[in-house]
Amino acid sequence: MSGQDYARFTQRLKTLSSPNLIIEAIGSVNDYQMFRVLLGEASGERKNILITAGIHGDEPAGPEAALCFLERDNTKLLQKFRFVILPCVNPYGYAHNARENKQGTDINRSFAEEQVVEVVLFKKAIQGQRFDFYIDFHEDWEAEGFYLYEGQRDEHWIGQEIIENVEKVGPIDTGTAESDMPISKGVLKVDPGWGTAGTAPYMLHTHSDHVMICETPKVWPLDQRASAHLTALDTALKHYLKP
Ligand SMILES: [Zn+2]
Repeated sequence: MSGQDYARFTQRLKTLSSPNLIIEAIGSVNDYQMFRVLLGEASGERKNILITAGIHGDEPAGPEAALCFLERDNTKLLQKFRFVILPCVNPYGYAHNARENKQGTDINRSFAEEQVVEVVLFKKAIQGQRFDFYIDFHEDWEAEGFYLYEGQRDEHWIGQEIIENVEKVGPIDTGTAESDMPISKGVLKVDPGWGTAGTAPYMLHTHSDHVMICETPKVWPLDQRASAHLTALDTALKHYLKP
C-alpha cells in the first residue's frame, strides 16, 4: 500500500504563516527532513504544550491533525499557551505507509535507546524543556472507536471529559485488552510499568507531569479522525485554562 505524500505535507507546513510561528528542519532521516514547529511566545506565564504525531508512519490522521491545528487561527490560545510541535516524527514511514522507520524499528518502543535517529532528533528538539502537557496522536487499525491513554502524576484524570466531547465526533471504543489498566470509559492508564521505551512513558519520566496518547480508529474518514484528535487537544487545553 502506498504511503502519504511527504512533499505535499512539507509544502503545507512551509506555507503556514502567523505571528510567533517558527518552522525549523531539525535533521534528516533517510533523505526526509524532520520538522519542529514553535508556536507562541515562551514565557514563564504561558503553559508549555508538546504535540507530536506520526511516530507510527501508517497513522496519517495524527500529522493531519497537527497540520489542521497549525492552519487554524490560534490567536486566543497563544495568550495562555506556547506550543512545541513535531508534526511528523517518522517521515520515512509516513511516505511508505509503514509503522516502523526504514530500519524496521518501532520508534515508539525505542526511547530508552540512543542510536535511533528519529529518537535522537526528538530528544534534541525538546532538550532542557518541561511541558505542562504532552499529547501524542496515534491511530488503531482494529479499534471501532476513539480511545486514549492518560498518564498523570497526581491522578487528576481529565480523560473522561475528553471522551464526553469526542463522543460528539464519533463512537468510543470500550474494548480492553488483558494488559490494559482502565480508568473510565475509553480511558486507559499509561502504565509506569511500561518503562521508558515508549514515547509517552518516557516523557512522563523525564519532561512532563501529564501525558496523553490519543487513538483514532482507521475505519473512520481521515477528517473525522483528525477532528477527534483536535477535540481531545482542545478539551485538554480548556482544562488548563481553568484557574
Ligand atoms: Zn501508533
